[in-house]
Amino acid sequence: MIQRIGIIGAGQMGSGIAHVASLNGFDITLIDTDAAVLASAMETVKKNMSRQVRKEIIDQETCDGALARIKTGDDIEDMKDADLVIEAAAEDEDIKKAILASLKGVIKPETIICTNTSSISVTRLAASTDRPNMFMGMHFMNPVPMMELVELVRGIATDEETYESVRDVAVKMGKKTAMAEDFPAFIVNRILLPMINEAIYALYEGVGTVESIDTAMRLGAHHPMGPLQLADFIGLDTCHSIMQVLYEGLADSKYRPCPLLAKYVEAGWLGRKSGRGFYDYSGDEPVPTR
Ligand code: NAD
Repeated sequence: MIQRIGIIGAGQMGSGIAHVASLNGFDITLIDTDAAVLASAMETVKKNMSRQVRKEIIDQETCDGALARIKTGDDIEDMKDADLVIEAAAEDEDIKKAILASLKGVIKPETIICTNTSSISVTRLAASTDRPNMFMGMHFMNPVPMMELVELVRGIATDEETYESVRDVAVKMGKKTAMAEDFPAFIVNRILLPMINEAIYALYEGVGTVESIDTAMRLGAHHPMGPLQLADFIGLDTCHSIMQVLYEGLADSKYRPCPLLAKYVEAGWLGRKSGRGFYDYSGDEPVPTR
């Protein structure tokens, strides 16, 4: 039975997973190497849960109970009691492999490990663990409390019992699931990111401004957010690494990351989380930068 979930990485995704999992009765241990990130993750969870209380989606008692179920820390040893570990650290293969390797000898023999990677091969990450059969992708969407889907990704070695246990956890968190095979970027991002990358090419080539591209897709294709707004929301570094994984993994030039995307990342303009991307977030309303 999975009751305690260890979450590694308290960024946008790790904090969102902690929010949803704690609200649905799981005990959480959330760790990050950056103490400031960890503190702001807890602030975000509290703020978002309070909003749910105000909107009468949950009551105060449920909110207090959920918050009391989240423990935080900065040490991989904090994962020792977890029944399930969800790795949600930065989208960098070396970082993820190092984290997965460091779980050896720390976690219990029966603990299942999942990665929230958006694009890296689950099978390749599994090889850094001591239990590839008990490892798979549990790909939450951003923002976790709002989005219905968890994409479940089986590596070549993932066993049926692991898959079913993880699917049950996703369902207990109130999510719907879709099964994807372990191909670069799975289903959602295989389709979504080339669309975003194309929007950045349209900006780069001068087809339209930030505002015209986003308005065109919101009103012309009925997308709830424009592609550049969405890119800022996902994080431009994450967008860039997903395109790179598609480009390298599928060896097809149609996935080439737009040079403008690469430049923004080099400049540290990572979108909403850094205060600037295709929009400037320093004021009350986001302002298009091009
Ligand atoms: P983020 O940059 O907001 O957070 C990543 C966190 O990992 C940072 O706080 C960092 O300090 C921490 N970290 C780095 N190395 C660590 C280590 N060794 N131990 C513990 N913590 C460590 O990134 P994010 O947007 O939350 O993305 C996290 C993962 O989720 C990535 O794999 C990403 O691809 C995936 N994902 C992101 C989105 C999205 O829209 N942002 C959606 C689905 C999945």
